[in-house]
This record gives sequence, C-alpha cells and structure tokens, in this order.
Amino acid sequence: MLDKRKFYIDGRWTDPVEAKNLEVINPSTEEAFAIISLGTDKDTDLAVDAAKRAFDGWSNTAPGERRAKVERLLEIYKRRAEEMARTISQEMGAPIDMALRSQVGAGAWHMTNFITAFRDFKFVRPLGDHAPDNRIVMDPIGVVGLITPWNWPMNQVTLKVTPALLAGCTLVLKPSEVAPLSSMLFAELADEAGIPAGVFNLVNGDGPGVGTRLSAHPDIEMISFTGSTRAGKAISKVAAETLKRVALELGGKGANIIFEDADGDAVRRGAAHCFNNTGQSCNAPTRMLVQRSIYDDAVETAKSVAEALAIDVADKHGAHIGPLVSDTQYSRVQDLIGKGIEEGARLVAGGPGRPSGLNRGYFVRPTIFADVDNNMTIAREEVFGPVLSIIPFDTEEEAITIANDTPYGLSNYVQTQDGERRNRVARKLKSGMVEMNGVSRAAGAPFGGVKASGRAREGGVWGIEEFLEPKAVSGWSQESAISE
Ligand code: NAD
Repeated sequence: MLDKRKFYIDGRWTDPVEAKNLEVINPSTEEAFAIISLGTDKDTDLAVDAAKRAFDGWSNTAPGERRAKVERLLEIYKRRAEEMARTISQEMGAPIDMALRSQVGAGAWHMTNFITAFRDFKFVRPLGDHAPDNRIVMDPIGVVGLITPWNWPMNQVTLKVTPALLAGCTLVLKPSEVAPLSSMLFAELADEAGIPAGVFNLVNGDGPGVGTRLSAHPDIEMISFTGSTRAGKAISKVAAETLKRVALELGGKGANIIFEDADGDAVRRGAAHCFNNTGQSCNAPTRMLVQRSIYDDAVETAKSVAEALAIDVADKHGAHIGPLVSDTQYSRVQDLIGKGIEEGARLVAGGPGRPSGLNRGYFVRPTIFADVDNNMTIAREEVFGPVLSIIPFDTEEEAITIANDTPYGLSNYVQTQDGERRNRVARKLKSGMVEMNGVSRAAGAPFGGVKASGRAREGGVWGIEEFLEPKAVSGWSQESAISE
C-alpha cells in the first residue's frame, strides 16, 4: 500500500494537521493500493497562507521568468510521462496506452499551447488611438483555489495550473479525492521545476471539507472548478459570501447531429468518441441525432462499434476501454441503463451488468439505445459511462431544437458535407463549442460551455485572462520605463 498521507505546502511535503484517511481504489481490481489524507480547514488555511505570502514575489516576477519556469515544468512532465501515465491508469482506470497518449498527452498539449499563447501576451495594453494616455493593466487576480475532477486528471490540472502560474497567481490545488495521485506527482514535478515555495500548494480532501473551505476562504480571490453541475452550484453559493470570482467547467450532454449527407465514417466516429475514456468525458457526444433516411443503417453501424469494442483491465496494453472509476459511478450507470429500458428506449447493444469474463472491477458493457425520446432520463442526464442514445429527426430545424433542448451547453457536433448548412447550424447551437465533420478544436481555442455546463473558458489567451483583472489606468506616462 502506497503511503501518500502528505500535502505539498510552502515548498515542502508536510504532515496533515489531523489524521483523516482515505484509501485510493484501483477500479480494475476494486482493491485499495494507496492511502491519502483528507485535509481539514486548518490544512487548507496553512496552504492559503503560504500562497498569500508568496503572491507578492511571484506576481512581480517578469513574465519571461514565469514562462521559463513553466517551460521547465513541461520538460519534466514530458520526461516523467510514463510514470504519470501509470499513476493515472491505476487511480482512474484509463488503459495504459490511452493514459500515456491521451490523458498525459492532453496535459502536455495544454501546457505547450499556453506557452505559445503567452509569447505575445501583453499585460499593459493601449485602450485605443483616441486615448493615448490610457492603459488597461492586466493584474493577476491573487491567490486562487483550483478544484479538479478524476476523469481527465492532468488535462484539467494543466488547464488551471499553467495559466494561473503564467498570469502571476499563486495557488492551492485540490484534486479529486478519487484520483489524487497524479496531482501529487505533478506537485513533485513543480518542485523539481523550481517553482518557488508557496506558489504551488496541494491539499488533498473532499468537497465538504477542503473544497468548501477553499470556496469560502476570504483570502482566495477566485475558484476555478471543473466537475459536476451539482458541486458547481454548491461552490457558487458558498463563494458568494466573499464575492470571489468563480469559473465553472461543468457537465455536458452533447448532441452529434448526423445529416443524411454526412461522410461515411461519421456514425462510427461518433460512437467511438462517445465510448472514449469509457464514456467519462464531459464533452462526449452522448446523444446521436440521425436523419430518418439513414437512421436504420446508422443504428446498425453504431451497434457494430459497441460490439467490436474490447474491455479490459487498465494495466494491459492495447486499444480496449477500461472500467468506470468507482463503485458509485458503476451503480449510477447501471441505474441509468435500467431507466433507459424501463422508459421504453430500444436496447441495441450492451445492457445491464458486467461484460462477460470480467466479474471484478467496475466494468460496464458499451451500451446503445435507439428510438430514444429526448425527454427520457438517459437523454437528459449525464450518464458518464459508455452509453449512447440514438434519436431520429426529419428536418434541420427539428435537429437544432432537440440538440438545444437540454439543461447543458458544452459541446455539440455536426456532420454534413453541406458547408452552408454546417455554418448555419453551428451558429444556432447553444453551446460553448461546436466540432464539425470530425475536425477537432485547434491549439489555443477556448474550452467551455454555457447554461448548466458553466461559463468558464479554458485554454489559450482566454484561459490566461480568466486569472487576470483588467485595471483601467488613465494619465499613463509615455516616458515610463515600465514595459508594455
Ligand atoms: P464532482 O463534482 O463530484 O467532483 C469534482 C471536484 O469537486 C472534486 O475535487 C470534489 O472533491 C470537489 N467537490 C465536490 N463537491 C464539492 C463542493 N460542494 N465544494 C467544493 N468542491 C467540491 O465531479 P466528479 O465526479 O469528480 O467529475 C465528474 C463531473 O465533472 C462530471 O459531471 C463531468 O461532466 C464534469 N466535468 C466537466 C468538465 C468540463 O470541462 N466541463 C471536464 C471534466 C469533467
């Protein structure tokens, strides 16, 4: 059993104030393999105090110096990628090859993109030709609390830590208590990269404990949160008392609109995307909307994708999918599959229970429901498992109405060869992101949503600006040596 009962505070690994422990479970075996401590208010306060003391120094370093530290961090992250992949794979069940390529890869991609965006980043900006003595000065917001989930651990940690550091903020990271070890390794990397003491702090804990204390803390100026809509609301309420900024990246229920003239690979691609990471992605295209004329063929194609998908333990090499992260998620997904059947959706592939040959571990069967009505529970709630709902439509207007008829608004998808239609539909979809014909968002594009998906924008210039406050200054001296 790995003993990980330490927090990283003020540049040192420290013992928790009180012994409150939690076991970390390997979802492939259901066995505990590590033990962590859950922090208390006192631990949280120590970390916030350290970040507060470090703020003056760090926020006043030259931007180039901060960039150099982040570049060093990226170098170390890449060097220790395999160790990071093993850690993620063990704690949340991503198969080892996928963990290295996609999970760890996403972190490196985000850090690289932030470094690029930061090259031309201006902290002092002219207001316009009409006001030569005005400047907008971008100030780091202060000490920030970063709260992350377990499903793409390094993706989310790098999307928050990197821009916070570049902006000149100091931080306290609280990773998910379900998958905390990758973040502890990340703290080791930050230490090795020479991030000064107090700038990066990590306290493990749960939502009601460290999460709530960070949200309420008067010395925290901003919470950047990724996780469930439920927790996002709880954080917003607690944070309201101190009027801190709250940036929320929440759940999703993405529609993938497949028109009859879609490319031949669209259905296969959409189903595979839904099952990626065992369906545990906020931006997964979980509602496949298919135009009636190609509907039957699409259902057959999606079925064949589900049936061809291999499922196995996370430490095995290969292109299979792994288990769900936890017992809780396993029960939730089973309940929702049951609801789908009960409410009359047509079960086409998968279904309740474990896949054959796997009677231990939180494994579920890749499941496809056809003839889903958008009002059914499986079409409304985020399942967070490998469950695809297929919904027929007749017209473009109907497809847009169904796609937008959801509390969420994170990412939608459109498949058609008709360019006019693509652009028209993209404009009408209510979501923070629209990906069409399998073209992914490029480096520097902001990730985020609207409605119950939260309103944050992470990545690129937008992601850095979230950690800054624009200050309007007039009477600015043209002769000043302060660089722009
Ligand atoms: P979760 O909300 O249960 O937990 C996320 C984090 O919040 C954890 O660190 C947890 O300890 C903490 N937390 C929980 N309750 C809290 C509270 N009341 N106050 C403060 N902190 C609290 O979510 P999860 O189960 O870890 O992750 C899955 C969810 O995350 C899904 O809904 C998924 O869609 C969402 N998600 C969103 C994005 C995005 O960018 N939009 C990305 C990934 C995951």
